[in-house]
Amino acid sequence: MAWADPLPGGGYRGGYRDSAGKKQYVKDPATGRTRKFGRKKDARDAATEEEVKASRRAAIANGLEPARIPWGAFWDSISDDRGARLSDTNVVEHSIVENYLRPKWGKVPLNQIITRGSAEHGVQEWVNDLEHGRVDGWKLSRPPAPSYVHRIYAVFQASMTVAKDTGVLTTSPCVGVKLPRKSKRAKPYLDAENAEKMGEHLRSDYRDAVDFSGETGLRPGELCGLHANYVDRERGWMSVREVLVARRRVIRSFPKDEDVRAVPLTPKAIEILDRQLKGRNLTHGCGLEHTDGTECASALVFLPKSS
Ligand SMILES: [Zn+2]
Repeated sequence: MAWADPLPGGGYRGGYRDSAGKKQYVKDPATGRTRKFGRKKDARDAATEEEVKASRRAAIANGLEPARIPWGAFWDSISDDRGARLSDTNVVEHSIVENYLRPKWGKVPLNQIITRGSAEHGVQEWVNDLEHGRVDGWKLSRPPAPSYVHRIYAVFQASMTVAKDTGVLTTSPCVGVKLPRKSKRAKPYLDAENAEKMGEHLRSDYRDAVDFSGETGLRPGELCGLHANYVDRERGWMSVREVLVARRRVIRSFPKDEDVRAVPLTPKAIEILDRQLKGRNLTHGCGLEHTDGTECASALVFLPKSS
């Protein structure tokens, strides 16, 4: 049973006991601190919601969640773990869930989802519909590319694998589902000669950015997130340790378990750096939020030139 406590400075916090009987308070997901509510009822309602989520998480972890849990509720209780790391991939996963999975599967109990044989609850039938663009969330007149069908399906399949691994289901209904073939086109790449030809048509600032990644092998997110303070022009090295997460417009440091790379600078790369950094103030901060909470005291190397 959840409750609300008045706070000394006014307002309320919402409290509940977790499955181990320990007191918990509703937290603000952004800051991790106890959340303050203006109204007592709001605090208690939020605590009730957290209490339900906590007991569901515990039930799943202990293999006690009944198989009749609706897919949407199941997803919400496992996605806290999956979404913990901020990245473009999570943003994509979230939009796949809200556009294609929740409208179709949100209210369907897990144990009613079957591999094939039902227009309503068959995974194979759903994949076939998806392949032809016959689903609610799909708004274009041409059907989705096979690779996108794979991508949507992969999120659903992952949820079913968790359901099986945690004992909520005894088998996954995704076993034996056939997906549309992906076209085997070679991945496009750019060789040096073509890059040069292409560069002739680019604006000079874009051209510098493309040339620089050609010289150093940086990925687009690394290129856009490159800060001037990690470039050691005198020694001819830079260290790659941050990326721009474009969709959220934030700078994310590499997680601790991934290696920061040191990359040598070629003469051409140094020439480009000098051109980009000349005459600029490099200690004002880049103006974007750094997700590790540090205050930025550098500048992004590559910025579009305002003409
Ligand atoms: Zn910055």
